[in-house]
Amino acid sequence: MLPDIENLLRLQEADKEIRRLQEEIAELPKRVAAIEQKLAGTKAQLEKAQAAVKSDEAARKKHETAITDHRGKISKYRDQSLEVKTNEQYKALLAEIQFAEKEISEIEDKILELMVKADARANEVKAAQSELKAETAEIEKEKEKARQRTAEDEKLLAEWRGKRDQFRTGIEADLLRQYERVSKFRGTGIAEVRDQKCMGCQVMLRPQTFNDVRSGRQIVYCDSCQRVLYMNPAEEVVEQKPVVHRPRRHHPKIDAPQAWYYRSEFDDAGEVYLCFTNSGGQASRRVYEIHTGRMAGDILIREGDFRHAFPENITDAIRLNGDWSEEEMDAWGTEAPMVVLDSLHADLEAARYEMRARSSAKPEAHAVVAPGQAAS
Ligand SMILES: [Zn+2]
Repeated sequence: MLPDIENLLRLQEADKEIRRLQEEIAELPKRVAAIEQKLAGTKAQLEKAQAAVKSDEAARKKHETAITDHRGKISKYRDQSLEVKTNEQYKALLAEIQFAEKEISEIEDKILELMVKADARANEVKAAQSELKAETAEIEKEKEKARQRTAEDEKLLAEWRGKRDQFRTGIEADLLRQYERVSKFRGTGIAEVRDQKCMGCQVMLRPQTFNDVRSGRQIVYCDSCQRVLYMNPAEEVVEQKPVVHRPRRHHPKIDAPQAWYYRSEFDDAGEVYLCFTNSGGQASRRVYEIHTGRMAGDILIREGDFRHAFPENITDAIRLNGDWSEEEMDAWGTEAPMVVLDSLHADLEAARYEMRARSSAKPEAHAVVAPGQAAS
């Protein structure tokens, strides 16, 4: 891995951590404020309950005064009744006394109602008071926690900022500028490549771009999101393992209408894959450069089937598995897609593995046969 890439990865980690800490520090007072708001609600509830108790008490006092007043009137009427001269006067006083007694009885009912309500009111006040007490204790605890957390975060933040500055000095200026520009808009400035895809934007890389990243010799940017690309070497090894350990290889059919070959040399193109297709008494040939997938030269068409039309291309070539329709291949244009190259690479790998296994197995076979022959 390039040192600049390693430094960018460290820088990205520092940037991420700094952002996280900043967000956390901003979030802590909000939590305290939310609890404080709840506390204010409980306080208001308590005040309301206490006010209700007070107003009930005032009402009761008023009622008691009214009863005293009525009793006073009654005793006054009784005194007067002893001195009345006529029956009418006596009846009138009696009516006044009955009216006052009825008033007293109604007021006494109201007082009884208030007394019953007073128990419920007292419970309301008690509940609100204990809730307030619990919330007050909680908010103090939360505030203290927030204070401690903020102090810890601030310390970490200062450390990460120091690290970030240090990582930045290790990165080439233009690269750093590009990273920071993209990072500002997209949140990250460097992305891993996995399965030939940029993990930052999930877009498939062009074969040339992918190969440049894989070679690890230069800084490569994603064409679609502009992030700096890198490949985790450990990931690559894992990806290739199944190919190396493939137990048996499917063998291409000798009379198939399409045949793929690998050649280590082809004109000026170097290593290539050749694709021959028989169709309507003619054979076509396509040539692809194996690393980039780029087509070398035009499609060549000759009379007859490909074995007779292109014998010079087939000798010393490794036959591979591959079958794509002419329409598909036309759709590729001048560049075979990565998935096609990968399939051919894997088959080439398997073919070579098979060839090595076959050549190393031969002397052993002789050794096994030799003692048997000696014994007979
Ligand atoms: Zn991308």
